[in-house]
Amino acid sequence: MDDLFVFSKNGWNPDNRELMLDETLFHSANGSLGVRSAFEEGYPAGYVSIRGQYLNGFYDYVSMPQAEKLFGFVDEKQTMLNVVDTQGIVLKVGDEVFNLFEGKVLEYSRTLDMRAGRSERRSLWRSPKGRTVELAVRRMASFALLPLFTIEYTVRTVDFSGEVTLESGHRGAVGNFSDPNDPRVAAEAFQHILPQAPEWVDGTSVVVSATSRSKLTVASAVRNQLSRPAKVSVSTGADAAFQTFTLTLNQGESVTLTKWTAVCDSVRAVNCRGQALASVSEASSVPLEHWYRKQREYLDDYWAQCSVHVEGDPDLSRAVTYNLYQLLQSVGKDPHANIAAKGLSGEGYEGHYFWDTEIYLLPFFSLNFPALARNLIEFRHTTLDAARENARILGHKKGALFPWRTIMGKECSGYFPSGTAQYHIDADIAYSVIQYHQLTGDLDFLARVGAEILFETARLWMDVGHESGGKFRIHGVTGPDEYTCLVNNNYYTNVMARHNLRWAVRAWKLLEDAGKLAPLAAKLALTAVEVEGFARAAETMLVPYDDERGINPQDDSFLDKPLWDFAGTPKDHYPLLLHYHPLHLYRHQVCKQADTVLAHFLLEDDQDEATVARSFEYYEAVTTHDSSLSTCIFSIVASKLGQTDKAYKYFEETSKLDLLNTHGNTKDGIHAANMGGTYMGIVFGFGGLRLKDDGLHLNPALPAAWSSYDFKVHDRGSRIKVTVDGEGCRLTLEHGPARTLTVYGKQVVLEGALTLARPKR
Ligand code: BGC
Repeated sequence: MDDLFVFSKNGWNPDNRELMLDETLFHSANGSLGVRSAFEEGYPAGYVSIRGQYLNGFYDYVSMPQAEKLFGFVDEKQTMLNVVDTQGIVLKVGDEVFNLFEGKVLEYSRTLDMRAGRSERRSLWRSPKGRTVELAVRRMASFALLPLFTIEYTVRTVDFSGEVTLESGHRGAVGNFSDPNDPRVAAEAFQHILPQAPEWVDGTSVVVSATSRSKLTVASAVRNQLSRPAKVSVSTGADAAFQTFTLTLNQGESVTLTKWTAVCDSVRAVNCRGQALASVSEASSVPLEHWYRKQREYLDDYWAQCSVHVEGDPDLSRAVTYNLYQLLQSVGKDPHANIAAKGLSGEGYEGHYFWDTEIYLLPFFSLNFPALARNLIEFRHTTLDAARENARILGHKKGALFPWRTIMGKECSGYFPSGTAQYHIDADIAYSVIQYHQLTGDLDFLARVGAEILFETARLWMDVGHESGGKFRIHGVTGPDEYTCLVNNNYYTNVMARHNLRWAVRAWKLLEDAGKLAPLAAKLALTAVEVEGFARAAETMLVPYDDERGINPQDDSFLDKPLWDFAGTPKDHYPLLLHYHPLHLYRHQVCKQADTVLAHFLLEDDQDEATVARSFEYYEAVTTHDSSLSTCIFSIVASKLGQTDKAYKYFEETSKLDLLNTHGNTKDGIHAANMGGTYMGIVFGFGGLRLKDDGLHLNPALPAAWSSYDFKVHDRGSRIKVTVDGEGCRLTLEHGPARTLTVYGKQVVLEGALTLARPKR
């Protein structure tokens, strides 16, 4: 397994947990459509499968009854739907049904080829009656034609001649997976998808379904093509359509069924049925090879823009590539969709978008694919009205409060202490607007989209905070750490809000100077006087500091709480959230994830390095990393502090989290933020990249286990490759105009290539 763009698993393991894990790890998605890698033929009775097929941004409403109904409590959420099942193919050889759980599996492998953009399942199987069959199944979610998902299903009769039957199914009546015992998984079994009876249109089966409450429509069209002549029959049930092919194969011969699926929805298309039919017909009018070629071209370009390569540790390099591939599979390709916490790989967190996007995922896209980053920001912009409404529900007269978790813009968090109270999401979204602006300098985008977000979030801070004793204070919010809720002056929130306010002032000035301010100011009735208020609040923002310990307390009360009894906590009681009542957690110094330490990374100039070092050490001792969003941040800050070995330890945990299933829940989907965190661990961590007012800063170091590594960054239209080795780094301008950067503290102008030696620390 030495191709770093190929991830495989070999050997048959019928363990149900392993199969569900592989459904996630080998899923096929293109940011719009995602299909879990379940077996076409299904599993035997008693096995569980999360057999899902999802569309990014397509949802139904689910009621979320609150036991005690208080004003403003959210009693309805959105959930990403499993929309259809077009995975089904049942194979019969003679009178036996292909089933890996009977007979003998002689060979078995699963592969994800990240250059070809396909996953593959291969098996060599001997049936209970002794027939040997070779099966190769390739799947692809097309990046070139977003509604398209294909299955190429090839059967070879190894040691017998006889009848082979292939039955290809298209099932409309599907449901979401439910697990009432896990708060991180949808808990409700309800028929959200209401399919109409399937139709056949020129040999293509079509299923149109409505959602039960959101009144959206989804249409799927399926066309089957067989590589050999066969007897064909169709059957249509109330909610499923089947096409069956029967033929005879001589020993050693093979037959391929190509199954074309197109899925379209009313979020994006006026006539989604027509569009699904048109997409399937367009796709199947040329050989599958054509789409494979397009997929390859798309990915060649993708990797040319963003690949990260580590020399000296092939497994880790592959894991990094895997993570970057998942980012592409997960990211919405239009402003209707964002990035769900689990991408399109599973139903964990119900397809919701969180702050994960802005703080963990957008940096990758801003640095490599500004157009995709723009979509993500536009998505938030299109939900501003819902965010304004949310702010009003919470009692704020001005501004917008983005929901903690959402699909279409309305709050979906049922537990406000660690949900809606995470007001920092406003500053996180503002942060991404600022970062995008720093990288692109795109004033038109700022005028059209970014500034409105900055102003409305700034207004929210003015309303939630108050001045007392000459300081601007923010009370009653929750920071990123979900084991500490509803506090006053969370360090992270305060410094991020300050950054938000400062940049609202800067955006006002930038747009004023460029003559682009008036329409927006008029639309928002925003005045210079109000903006002066932003500046005052920023400058008087309370920034908690503890003189005794020389660190930033996480909030006003954190350091007064008793320390968590880590020595007395059994290993199997992690994650703590599944074993201890929230109130018990809130009363102790124990963190689920990076909070103050994250602020030290995002806004490093807000604190001197000695304070950061002490804070890091302090919070490291009380952090469980029960959230997958944590270790990458500790890795980055350890790198900043020159603790490269420690950074490396955290980085290893981060980069292989899903591949090794270290959190035990990858079956519910990938941890997309952690994957973005893997990229950040290299680029911001070991690479020491920072975005500052005078451009990009780099301070690359090399972990001892590697001989070199490289990554790319895009800065105002220029693509720069950074290669780091034991001596220092080499910068190559791959594309675009010369750039001025600061490397190891010195300004350099990059025109062609530059080699810079690392100064002694
Ligand atoms: C984390 C949040 C995160 C969410 C979705 C939670 O476990 O604590 O910070 O946004 O997962 O990934």
